[in-house]
Amino acid sequence: MGRYFRDLWIGIVTVLQGMRVTFGHLFNRRITVQYPRETVPMYPRTRVTLVNNAKDCGFCLSCKRACPVNIFTIVGARAEPDEDLGILPDGKPKKMHILEFKIDMSKCVYCGLCVDACDTQSLHWELPQEPSVFRRQELHKDFSDMSEEDKARVRAREEQKKKDRAAQAAAKAAPPKGDTPVE
Ligand code: SF4
Ligand code: SF4
Repeated sequence: MGRYFRDLWIGIVTVLQGMRVTFGHLFNRRITVQYPRETVPMYPRTRVTLVNNAKDCGFCLSCKRACPVNIFTIVGARAEPDEDLGILPDGKPKKMHILEFKIDMSKCVYCGLCVDACDTQSLHWELPQEPSVFRRQELHKDFSDMSEEDKARVRAREEQKKKDRAAQAAAKAAPPKGDTPVE
C-alpha cells in the first residue's frame, strides 16, 4: 500500500515538473516568423552572395586560384595601348577588359578564401534583401561590366590578332622563295 502511494506521488510530481516547462514557454516572445512576409534580420557580416565590382578588378586571377571548388570562369582581353580603362584602387592603370566574370554560387562553400585573396577588394560579400531564389540559374552570376557590343568588338579584335600571329608564324616557317624543299 505504501509503495502505491509513493508511486502516485512521484507521478504527480513529474507531471507538474513537465507542466512547469510547458507553462514556462507559453508566454515567451514569438520565435518563429511568417516567411516570406516576415524575415529574420541577418548579421551584417553574414556571407550570402559574392559580388565583383569589375571596374576595380585587375584580372589578377588570385580569387580563381584560391577557390577550392573552382567555380570561377574569368575571361579577359588585354587593352590596346591607347585605351584608357581607368585606375585600379591600388593606383595602377587597369590593363584588362573583363569579358566574363562568372561565379556559380550554387557550388560555393562560403569559405571566403576568394575575398581574402582579392587585393583590390573588388570582390566582396553582399547581403541582399532576399537571398532565396526559385531557379538554380539565378545563382549563376556574371559581373562583366561590358556591353554585348563592346564584348563582340574586343573578341573580334582578339580573333584578328590571333589570325595575324598565326599568319606571321606560318610565313616565318615557310622556306624562302626560290628554294626547293629537300625531300
Ligand atoms: S567563398 Fe570559397 S567556395 Fe565560394 S567562391 Fe569564394 S573561394 Fe570559392
Ligand atoms: S582577385 Fe580581385 S582583382 Fe583579382 S581577378 Fe579576382 S576579383 Fe579581380
